[in-house]
Amino acid sequence: MATIAFIGLGNMGGPMAANLVKAGHKVVGFDLVKSSLDQAKADGATIADSAAAAVKGADVVITMLPAGKHVVSVWSDIIPSVAKGALMIDCSTIDVESARRAHALAGKASVLSVDAPVSGGTGGAKGATLTFMAGGDDKAFAAAKPVLEAMGKKIVHCGEGGAGQAAKICNNMILGISMIAVGEAFALAEKLGLSHQALFDVSSTSSGQCWALTSYCPVPGPVPASPANNGYKPGFASALMVKDLTLAQDAANAAGAATPLGKHAQEIYEAFDAAGNGGVDFSGIIQHVRGLAGKS
Ligand code: NAD
Repeated sequence: MATIAFIGLGNMGGPMAANLVKAGHKVVGFDLVKSSLDQAKADGATIADSAAAAVKGADVVITMLPAGKHVVSVWSDIIPSVAKGALMIDCSTIDVESARRAHALAGKASVLSVDAPVSGGTGGAKGATLTFMAGGDDKAFAAAKPVLEAMGKKIVHCGEGGAGQAAKICNNMILGISMIAVGEAFALAEKLGLSHQALFDVSSTSSGQCWALTSYCPVPGPVPASPANNGYKPGFASALMVKDLTLAQDAANAAGAATPLGKHAQEIYEAFDAAGNGGVDFSGIIQHVRGLAGKS
């Protein structure tokens, strides 16, 4: 079993670190927030005084931080203390450019590195059922896979450094757009006097079928576990959807890709967020869609 430093013990990182402990690894944690450190300690991790102290003697270092600037800053800070030949994995959702910078920092210090953002939210983090989208060379991926398997159920090697982040933002752009499409369809069905269940029964087994409909239905009833049945409590908060759609737009602009629906989806979630709904599950976007009726 490995010694694993885990930096960033928030909503996602906390339960992920706990699953590494459960799998038998020695986990040394660090976060800026005391309550996160206390929880990690209760979950069986050892607590370090700083990020640099946490990584000393670690075989594997994992970061789970808010954004690219945090990852580049923390990696710059800790890499001098990471052993040559050790492995660094960043599981945060960040821009592709920062991910590539982090890989370059590790490469210069002869440290293996993988970007491995996740899909599955806090439920997946707790249940160790996350999907990891990994970018890095074959040697780094082979070293990372068994560690990631203690926190997730599907690990996909997407390509070289940065490819995991690219896959994450492309996937979430599909999700953001398709949730609006499903919300619009239910809002139209309501106006036409068609029941939620009837639309669900037809579309879930025909060409309108998609994850936003069948696993995360934005109206209460047809999918009992979806946040619509629980007052749109996240799940996956709208503010995080805005973050991911903004990363997708930044990447599209930098790469010269046309993503008109991705851009429009970003604007729609931003308006929902600006109206005070950043903490509402992103499937609550159907409420915003209903509110647009008669306005255009
Ligand atoms: P969070 O804000 O709960 O946790 C981030 C943690 O990083 C915080 O505890 C914070 O104190 C810590 N941190 C920040 N700077 C630090 C530093 N310099 N040193 C040590 N710790 C530091 O966020 P989260 O929900 O756990 O999300 C983490 C990442 O996972 C984000 O990139 C997010 O986009 C991504 N993500 C989140 C979800 C979700 O449903 N929450 C789903 C998929 C991906």
